[in-house]
Amino acid sequence: MKQTQLSMETMELDHVDIVTSHICNNQCKNCIDKFLGTSNKIISLETIQRFLKVIRKHTDKPLEVLLLGGEPTILPIKQLIDIADLVHHEGFLVMMSTNGKLKKKIIQLIPYYDSIQITVSSDAEIDFWREWSDKINIKLSGDEFLTLEKLNHFVEYTKGFFRRSISMYFTPDFTELCTDQEVWDLLDTLEWKRNGSYLYAFYKGVRIKKCIHGETNIVDEPSVPKVYPNGNYNKTWCNEELDDYLDGTW
Ligand code: SF4
Repeated sequence: MKQTQLSMETMELDHVDIVTSHICNNQCKNCIDKFLGTSNKIISLETIQRFLKVIRKHTDKPLEVLLLGGEPTILPIKQLIDIADLVHHEGFLVMMSTNGKLKKKIIQLIPYYDSIQITVSSDAEIDFWREWSDKINIKLSGDEFLTLEKLNHFVEYTKGFFRRSISMYFTPDFTELCTDQEVWDLLDTLEWKRNGSYLYAFYKGVRIKKCIHGETNIVDEPSVPKVYPNGNYNKTWCNEELDDYLDGTW
């Protein structure tokens, strides 16, 4: 697969990722973590601190630091709070992307996080999270189950949440999982902007994200530095080895 080569000097960082583990309590058909289930290792605070200090050398901005996985909420709650405190201490914003299954734990974490992105698949789930709509980024997967009707319902039903988003998912060879032509016809009418290695547009206040065909897909984001539970960092999910991505100063 062709991958975009962008150096830290030339790219505008939008956010950085912390891959907290390769463990998950879900079994999605098109999991974004190709290393899922390969290790029980959980990322350490030391690794995160080291990673953030390297990122800080490249930007003064209060970038968003996104915890993902695997599933971040499988980490002990104390560790998730300690991570949030550490990220804030280093001058970044801290977010988490979760499947929303461990609801009690997520509710306990909300005060410590700037926002929590929760992927939902039903109105009942959306209703459950309404109480915390000022902190929850409510997300719909643009997968094989997405239809125009479902998209429009999501847009209407999630009004009031401070952030709403839809990620269009692709296979590694850039085949769209969503096959509803009406969805794509609608997306074609939007004004897309580039953000690093992906495109985004807004539809009635909902941020929609999609890959750039032939360049990168949703699981390979070369402009998003990632640190992994084993202490390595890299630009993609597909080559989990140390390289000179972060200036060779790791
Ligand atoms: S919730 Fe995320 S990490 Fe877990 S199986 Fe689904 S895509 Fe993979």
